[in-house]
Amino acid sequence: MTVVSFKNVSKSFGARQVLTDITFDVPQGQVVSLIGPSGAGKSTLLRCVNQLDRHTSGNISVAGQQISPSCRQRDLMRLRRHVGMVFQSFNLWPHLSAIGNVMEGPMTVLRRPRGQAREQAEALLEQVGLSAHLDKYPGQLSGGQQQRVAIARALAMEPEVMLFDEATSALDPEMVQEVLGVMEKLAGSGMTMLIVTHEMAFARRIGHRVLFMVDGQIVEDEEPASFFASPATERGRAFLSRAL
Ligand code: ADP
Ligand code: MG
Repeated sequence: MTVVSFKNVSKSFGARQVLTDITFDVPQGQVVSLIGPSGAGKSTLLRCVNQLDRHTSGNISVAGQQISPSCRQRDLMRLRRHVGMVFQSFNLWPHLSAIGNVMEGPMTVLRRPRGQAREQAEALLEQVGLSAHLDKYPGQLSGGQQQRVAIARALAMEPEVMLFDEATSALDPEMVQEVLGVMEKLAGSGMTMLIVTHEMAFARRIGHRVLFMVDGQIVEDEEPASFFASPATERGRAFLSRAL
């Protein structure tokens, strides 16, 4: 089953075209690393998946739902329930505890009873290694811990696909591994994932596929082993020689 499909998707901000003719399909359970230089359009592509950025032409479908450039707010709300996203900044609600952050979406959006939401949140926070910190507030947690709460919070909505936009870029080096470890476990559990990352070793290890982007286009679409061993394009080679 295909979870995310882009067909000839383009995106402009005003006169500036940022994505050009993007086409790819992501089957269920696939882990895709999106890499490329700054400004290539990686974040915009991810944000088109959940329509935080609306595309200007082409077709996108997510979990079987077709999204046109002109679809309505109601369709976007439905779409976003299927897509979890984790950003560079953790964006936790500062006035809610770790477990409160994880319970909030299921209770308010999915109308889950509090007890059920709590049980699920406890299980998710255990999965990300935070059972000892359920009642702490974001301000009392390290960056790595906050990011793991953010991952648990996204998972609580039971998404069909998870998007990660440089989820470890704002972290102190010693906290990067704990977050990558959680992402790796999630990949192993069969979650469909699109990951924008500068962690090349990580992309190589956990990804099933690499999309290499330059100037708003997908320039290479390869298995990690072959991309990292020998990129097919000169731009790919130049990028890797700087990034590795
Ligand atoms: P990446 O994540 O690969 O660094 P982005 O998707 O953030 O790239 O940006 C791609 C291009 O789109 C950049 O040139 C950026 O300046 C431009 N861009 C991104 N968001 C906006 C916006 N809201 N308005 C105008 N231009 C934008
Ligand atoms: Mg970006």
